[in-house]
Amino acid sequence: MVLDSACVFCAIVNGGISADVVYRDENILAFNDVDPQAPTHVLIVPTLHVENSAQLALISPTTTAQLFTVAAHIAAQRGLTGFRTVFNTGAEAGQSVFHAHLHLLGGRRLAWPPG
Ligand code: AMP
Repeated sequence: MVLDSACVFCAIVNGGISADVVYRDENILAFNDVDPQAPTHVLIVPTLHVENSAQLALISPTTTAQLFTVAAHIAAQRGLTGFRTVFNTGAEAGQSVFHAHLHLLGGRRLAWPPG
């Protein structure tokens, strides 16, 4: 587990900042977004500090795939019949925390295209 001391999601991974954790294994932590945009809004993050989804895919395709497996697992647990998974990659795309994270959104009708 490689952590960045300045990173808020690393602080959640190591327990320095509390979060509403819904899933945890050796490589992945999932917790409720503090500012939910849907009834289900979970952030699924690698425990490894990697800046964004593109870097994560290069460094660990296996962990990248596991993020989606965990999203499907949480969605199934909650009985979601449809859900959205989103990586914001880069500030222009809306990324505000530079530790790769997959948003899992569901529990309401989701519009397309996104804003
Ligand atoms: P993004 O804009 O794609 O980088 O997403 C970052 C997300 O992290 C936003 O949806 C924030 O609401 C969420 N967030 C920031 N800090 C925390 C925190 N301490 N606990 C839970 N969610 C957080």
